[in-house]
Amino acid sequence: RTTAEWKKIDSAHHLHPFTDFKGLTDEGGARLIVRAEGPYLYDSEGTKILDGMAGLWCVNVGYGRKELAEAAYAQMQELPYYNTFFKTTTMPATELARQLVELTPEGLNHAFFAGSGSEANDTVIRMVRRYWALEGQPQRQVIIGRRNGYHGSTLAALSLGGMSAMHTQSGILPGFAHIEPPHWFQLGYHEDPDAFGVKAAGWLEDKIQEVGPDSVAAFIAEPIQGAGGLVYPPATYWAEIQRVCHKYGILLIVDEVICGFGRTGNWFGSQTFDIKPDLMPLAKGMSSGYQPIAAVMVGDRVADTLISKGGEFFHGYTYSGHPVACAVALENIRILRDEGIVDRVRTDTGPYFQKRLRELADHPIVGEVRGIGMIAGIELIRDKARHEFFDDVGKVGTIARDHSFANGLIMRAVYDTLVLSPPLILTHDHIDELVEKVRLVLDKTAHDTGV
Ligand code: PLP
Repeated sequence: RTTAEWKKIDSAHHLHPFTDFKGLTDEGGARLIVRAEGPYLYDSEGTKILDGMAGLWCVNVGYGRKELAEAAYAQMQELPYYNTFFKTTTMPATELARQLVELTPEGLNHAFFAGSGSEANDTVIRMVRRYWALEGQPQRQVIIGRRNGYHGSTLAALSLGGMSAMHTQSGILPGFAHIEPPHWFQLGYHEDPDAFGVKAAGWLEDKIQEVGPDSVAAFIAEPIQGAGGLVYPPATYWAEIQRVCHKYGILLIVDEVICGFGRTGNWFGSQTFDIKPDLMPLAKGMSSGYQPIAAVMVGDRVADTLISKGGEFFHGYTYSGHPVACAVALENIRILRDEGIVDRVRTDTGPYFQKRLRELADHPIVGEVRGIGMIAGIELIRDKARHEFFDDVGKVGTIARDHSFANGLIMRAVYDTLVLSPPLILTHDHIDELVEKVRLVLDKTAHDTGV
């Protein structure tokens, strides 16, 4: 089939996630990606594209790793499927649980497997509610999340999250509340960042008071808010959040679906920001996206209650602990560790990536460059001196995103923030190429918007 034929069939029959169905068809259909190697994608017309997003923030070891394909093949031949329900297990599932406990912060001694980040977060909600019921406080139902937090697309996960467009389209389940994220550049730029961090964490305490301390079960946040626009926490934020959680005895859930597996230069964002979560959902980088797999790491406080007082927990997925996905995740962890990829992001490529991106702060439409390791946001602004944002929020970001696609770089726009989350295997040369492309995109965008 020709590319045009593929596009026609796709437009006729395939409803894409997070897509304006009609808009896609009007534009001539979806770009057809046919293969990938290292940090590069290739489309059906032979165009080479640098993937500045590692797929959807997930292909941490890059594309084309044969070891991962071989791990899947070997496991499929040995035991392609068996479940972990009803007192059975498989070696890959058991070994993966052991290794995750070893890698994650102290106290997270148990893993519950799922197939996606959304499923992991549904699991979290059920565990939190079960925990409080078993502790004799079933009225503690409310989980507080953050505006623009993203925890998945199922009805429960989107309720946990704070994406207003999703709430508007489907409604939100009862038992969820949201606070503003600590977005210094938008909400506190006239304040000292450390003071702003304490203030932003105080919004959690305000919300707990508003809801009623006896009704609050938990607080959930990503270490760095990703899909909600790369909100990087001020240095004081997480310590203060933890102080508030302790004061009210509420559980702390740290969604590591994006930040996990090396993205911030440590295995987990919780290590980068010195956070001690009670529950930690994982996905994406866990298998570098080569297989759908997720987990919830469960701390001793919750696990002890679920184990000692719980009885049967009526929860699980057909693919919880899927042996092929677990085998691939194990091999992915081996690659990240044995090839020193996580260490390199912390000590070498991460700092270089951040330094080179910060050079773009001199550009007339760049307000702020923020991030750590291999995750970054570039916030666009209309007037730097006056700190004035573009009027039609998201429009300029979309223009920049489109220029990026057209110039062989995948970069995402969240409102007017350009987001980068590339494979962790980028070399200095790759980073130079990426930054050069971003500058070109900024020039073209400034030209289009008359800045
Ligand atoms: N949590 C975070 C922080 C995410 O970024 C995402 C997806 O982008 C999810 C959860 C949901 O994961 P999934 O798409 O695998 O359901």
